[in-house]
Amino acid sequence: MRAVTVKPGQANSLSLVEDQPEPASEEGAVLVEALAVGICGTDHEIIAGDYGEAPPGADRLVIGHESLGRVLDDPTGTLQPGDLVAGIVRHPDPVPCPNCAVGEWDMCRNGRYTEHGIKALPGFARDRWRIEPEFAVKLDPALAQVGVLLEPTSVVAKAWDHIERIGHRAEWQPQTVLVTGAGPIGLLAALLGAQRGLTVHVLDRATDGPKPELVAGLGATYHAVPVNDLPFEPDVVIECTGAPTVVLDVMCKAAPNGIVCLAGVSSGGRSIDFDAGALNRALVLENNVVFGSVNANRRHWNMAAQALTRADQVWLSSLITRRVPVNRYADAYTAGPDDIKVVLEFAS
Ligand SMILES: [Zn+2]
Repeated sequence: MRAVTVKPGQANSLSLVEDQPEPASEEGAVLVEALAVGICGTDHEIIAGDYGEAPPGADRLVIGHESLGRVLDDPTGTLQPGDLVAGIVRHPDPVPCPNCAVGEWDMCRNGRYTEHGIKALPGFARDRWRIEPEFAVKLDPALAQVGVLLEPTSVVAKAWDHIERIGHRAEWQPQTVLVTGAGPIGLLAALLGAQRGLTVHVLDRATDGPKPELVAGLGATYHAVPVNDLPFEPDVVIECTGAPTVVLDVMCKAAPNGIVCLAGVSSGGRSIDFDAGALNRALVLENNVVFGSVNANRRHWNMAAQALTRADQVWLSSLITRRVPVNRYADAYTAGPDDIKVVLEFAS
């Protein structure tokens, strides 16, 4: 069968293998036929050789961690043939740490977790894959065209879950959310904000392309100005750019009792002049919280599946700006100027 693979640590080793062995039974009881795999920045980092780890004893890694597939067989009876599923990316560490021990592998403390298509577990960019039923998330059949968005949605479902847990430290009636960055994560974070009935603002550099219209499609307001020029103070910020100046500006911009969730990853290595004392003063005197959020556990994947089911399917579909057949995989992994989400399709 076909598989898209890389040699971790070696730049530009991406290749389509035609004679990939069928998934081993040890990989899980549920056999799944791949339908689609989404591509994100992590895949580009792996292809650049900056990231990624092959399974023990292997020199190549099947990539792809944003999955959608159809169940072919599940001898445990948990799922039925034909069910639409996505595979949970992260598996708990073997120790396990206190968090992995209770299914919170997204909060793993020792870093020994594994991840499909990223860290020591084969990915989903292959014709067929296997997974244990407890790591398969069943999707509504109506999500056949957009269910590949479940993994990025799980990441923002976790972010919102933690925002709400932090918010309930005191009486909390948020009204306004600012999302910085209108990529797939930012747009899905905005979707979940709109679903909560909040007034949603999205800030991005782009002044044309699909982003302004996608934001308008949520009933949200689009801004292509510096954070400091925004005429309001948000109760919640979800920062998805990782751009150092944007990160620092939103921490200072939040309203009293504001919560700033950092969900973007900076590349580092760049220093900027910044008044840390002023930030400390703003955070203390306004009871503000800044926290980081990454990955998701089973509960968040289930929340994400519900969020996608409730969303406008046409809007979700318009996030997928290119669908590329697997045999043209190199095109899929080459970023285009107006890409939001690019998806590799396995059907046929
Ligand atoms: Zn752990």
